[in-house]
Amino acid sequence: MTAKTSTQKFHLQALPYPYDVLEPHISAETLHFHHDKHMAAYVEKLNSLIVDTPFANATSLEEVVLQSDGAIFNNAAQAWNHKFYFEQFAPKPKHESEGELAKAIEKKFGSIEKLKEQMERDAVALFGSGWVWLAADKHGELAIISKCNAGNPLTEGMYPLLTIDVWEHAYYIDHRNARAAAVKALWNVLCWSKIEQRYSEIGRSK
Ligand code: MN
Repeated sequence: MTAKTSTQKFHLQALPYPYDVLEPHISAETLHFHHDKHMAAYVEKLNSLIVDTPFANATSLEEVVLQSDGAIFNNAAQAWNHKFYFEQFAPKPKHESEGELAKAIEKKFGSIEKLKEQMERDAVALFGSGWVWLAADKHGELAIISKCNAGNPLTEGMYPLLTIDVWEHAYYIDHRNARAAAVKALWNVLCWSKIEQRYSEIGRSK
């Protein structure tokens, strides 16, 4: 019998900004709970679950997301999704998209405002916990994709660009049950230059 040893294969990365700089749109208290408690728990659980599995040798978190299922998938995807989520915000964000992304948004949705409205509607309509994603296919065509629980469009060969966390833990401290208001508040700190950067990297990294 092999004794299971705890590993720290995956690490919780610090937020890319101080906790209080997204206020009043996302409070420091929400970020402390969301990042330091919820996200940290997914990373910790993932590390414990992969001990003595082939995933202990994975070269990236994305690899685990793409190849796992069950509890390992749930925790790996939640770790991936949260890192991606937190990285899209900035205290002084760029509020409009430009260039190729702006063109793709206009082509698919008519305008950035219409894109936001549809994502807000889909976030409110998603029953239970999950994520609403803006993603692109390999040709750069955009789609809004709702996923339950830890779901991520990577598993259908799509490239995530932007995500809305509609788990109650993401908004209950600041907005209580008002999911629509919580989603609307996110646009104030969503940095479109980050989304443009993700869009420009499609197909280049793998
Ligand atoms: Mn969350």
